[in-house]
Amino acid sequence: MTAREPIHCDLCIVGTGMAGMSAALFAANRGLRTALVGRTGEIIFATSLIDLMGVHPVESGTVWADPWAAIAALVRDQPRHPYALLPSEAIRSAIDELLDFLEANEMPFRGHPDRNVAVLTALGTAKTTYRVPLTFWAGVEARERKRPCLLADVQGLKGFSARQIASAASTSWPGLRTTRLVLPRVAGSGEVFAERLARALELDTHRRLLAEALAPHLAGVEAVGLPAILGISRSVAVLRDVEQRLGMPLFEIPTMPPGTTGLRLKETFERGLGAKGVTLFLENRVLAASMPSSGDFVLEVGRIEPELTIRAPMVILATGRFMGGGLKADRQVVRETLFDLPVHQPAGRAHWHREEFLDPRGHPVNRAGVCIDASFRPLDAAGRPVHARLFAAGSILAHQDWMRMKCGSGLAIASAWAAVGQAVGRLGRRKPPSS
Ligand SMILES: Cc1cc2nc3c(=O)[nH]c(=O)nc-3n(C[C@H](O)[C@H](O)[C@H](O)COP(=O)(O)OP(=O)(O)OC[C@H]3O[C@@H](n4cnc5c(N)ncnc54)[C@H](O)[C@@H]3O)c2cc1C
Repeated sequence: MTAREPIHCDLCIVGTGMAGMSAALFAANRGLRTALVGRTGEIIFATSLIDLMGVHPVESGTVWADPWAAIAALVRDQPRHPYALLPSEAIRSAIDELLDFLEANEMPFRGHPDRNVAVLTALGTAKTTYRVPLTFWAGVEARERKRPCLLADVQGLKGFSARQIASAASTSWPGLRTTRLVLPRVAGSGEVFAERLARALELDTHRRLLAEALAPHLAGVEAVGLPAILGISRSVAVLRDVEQRLGMPLFEIPTMPPGTTGLRLKETFERGLGAKGVTLFLENRVLAASMPSSGDFVLEVGRIEPELTIRAPMVILATGRFMGGGLKADRQVVRETLFDLPVHQPAGRAHWHREEFLDPRGHPVNRAGVCIDASFRPLDAAGRPVHARLFAAGSILAHQDWMRMKCGSGLAIASAWAAVGQAVGRLGRRKPPSS
């Protein structure tokens, strides 16, 4: 037992990936006293592209231009996929609310309401997605129109070769020219790191040097593509400034993880959620949680040892999968790490993976996770809600393979929106806890 004064809130969200951050936004927008606890997870590795639904069925690799039609087909073929619990109006509302928040916090996104777009990757392939940060947008448009563009990389920046990208993309996007920039006064000499370069380009003098290095290579091109290095907290301002100096559109191409784009998303969320009054316990974990049948959940929070206690009538579990730490595999079973919830999974380790690593159907263990009811509450082995006020959202949910289906952020955002809606409904029926 601890003598610490507990922190009271209406809702505690566990996990600071896309699902947890989005849930915190939706809860704050609905007036809930919200606490958010989590360590930096997968989000800093993410491209920050918002996939809604790109590929179905995964075994044929069929890419869909219309994500809504793809969701309809998926739900028809796989009625246990979590999207089956989410009407399309709910998904649209969730994404719009999230994008409004990001735009208001200087990270605007672009896209089309009813179709996917294709983004050039650091491999030279095209990735299907739904919404892209504004700093990528001129590249999406230029690729669609096959405009002649210059792709530039930076000497010392590993994992991003303009020549390789242009060569791999040459059949779908002919007319790409390339150059390598040498920017010792911006990036230092030796190995160059994207984050350092991005922070350096927040300074006017460094942007001038970048524009001067690009200027001799612009004849005959209509836009310029760079690795995602245009600032961290002010990427649109950095982009616009360099565009003005060049006199043509500029776009970013995602780099290999960890890059700058996930970091931008993380910092934008943290800034914006703090301003909305969310109580943030960043770089912390919920180390233990008790789930009484009546009264508040009690969550012990800290880095290594418990340092504070949160009491909340409702909890949203958004702890992710194996990388985030929400699921853990021991030799025989996959477990949920915080509440030891039942995990839907293949019957035994021998069935986790298919023989071929690259089997297009994916591996059964990738669809392991927590089963939920229509109110987004985890279910026990008998199919009943484990607790009336415990909800789950994001990639921890069973019956989906977000990586192959290209539905990662869309599912995280929409399930967070739905879980918060359920929590709001239930809080209304209870006497608010006193603080
Ligand atoms: C390399 C990479 C690229 C990606 N690219 C895309 C893309 O192009 N498009 C797209 O749509 N999506 C992409 N994603 C996926 C997306 O970023 C999210 O990972 C996905 O949407 C699931 O998010 P999540 O919040 O459910 O889980 P996670 O992102 O895994 O977050 C889980 C969080 O829970 C925390 N946590 C776990 N246990 C505890 C605990 N006990 N206490 C407190 N916190 C805890 C973790 O530290 C982490 O912060 C990418 C992901 C990766 C890794």
